[in-house]
Amino acid sequence: SIPLGFFGGIGGASKTGILIKGGNYLEALNQVDTIVMDKTGTLTKGIFQVTEIEPLEGFTSDEILEYAAFGEVFSNHPIGKSILKAYGKEIDNNNIKNYKEISGKGVKVEVNGDGITVGNERLFKDEGIPIREKKSFGTIVYVAKNNEYIGNIIISDEIKEDSKDTISELKKMGIKETIMLSGDNNIVAEGVGKELGVDRVYGELLPQDKVNILEKIMREKKKKGKVAFVGDGVNDAPVLARADVGIAMGGLGSDAAIEASDIVIMTDEPKRISTGIKISKKTKKIVT
Ligand code: ADP
Ligand code: MG
Repeated sequence: SIPLGFFGGIGGASKTGILIKGGNYLEALNQVDTIVMDKTGTLTKGIFQVTEIEPLEGFTSDEILEYAAFGEVFSNHPIGKSILKAYGKEIDNNNIKNYKEISGKGVKVEVNGDGITVGNERLFKDEGIPIREKKSFGTIVYVAKNNEYIGNIIISDEIKEDSKDTISELKKMGIKETIMLSGDNNIVAEGVGKELGVDRVYGELLPQDKVNILEKIMREKKKKGKVAFVGDGVNDAPVLARADVGIAMGGLGSDAAIEASDIVIMTDEPKRISTGIKISKKTKKIVT
């Protein structure tokens, strides 16, 4: 049975916007010494903005943005939405056929018979489309027409206000390691990781890679201390389910992520992670 003190802990946590699905998770949270976090939407706002467009000679920025917007017309991904927002015009869906979304990579469509490809370096490698390298800081979205690279769009996200303080707070509280996972390119992932002071960064991950990395981290620990994962997106659900303690960020979070988690943070503030751990430690003192 669950010691009564745990209910006090769960109640206290819920007042701060942290929902714990059972007393055993509060106890598990108390034993966490490694925190693995997703980047986009968890440590960063997940609200992307187009900051630069680089057309290949013979094309204009407006054309690149227009083709990209056609490609993203049915996309629900934050990247797709930012491109549609920057484009800002109505798109006639009737001319757009064979929309295909490739998870963790991008999108493909046919517009008036032209094949349009919009996505990351990995997608372009898969499709065998050579790109012109550009090492701008930001998430780079490449655009191709009929399998020929025509330009790219740089989009940026912002780090949340409390992310950096949360990482240092977690260290002070005795968390041994903080780790960030991301589907974004390594330059962006490492830049954000360094800025926040996380101990380890893994970038360019496909959704299924995140589960493999989490399992690797759990094996490394050889059952000494528990591993928590914090994420918000649909892609994060399998990782949330696999972690010793899965923590979904509720503010922008998806239903699938909330369903797969043990603990739900109702706001989109990373600082609730350290609040939750504090509550679990206090509760432990009352229970024992
Ligand atoms: P994260 O792990 O950062 O939450 P995702 O797994 O959702 O990211 O996506 C990883 C990468 O795949 C993105 O950084 C982007 O390069 C690419 N990508 C995914 N969806 C799209 C899209 N609709 N349009 C363009 N690029 C995309
Ligand atoms: Mg995400």
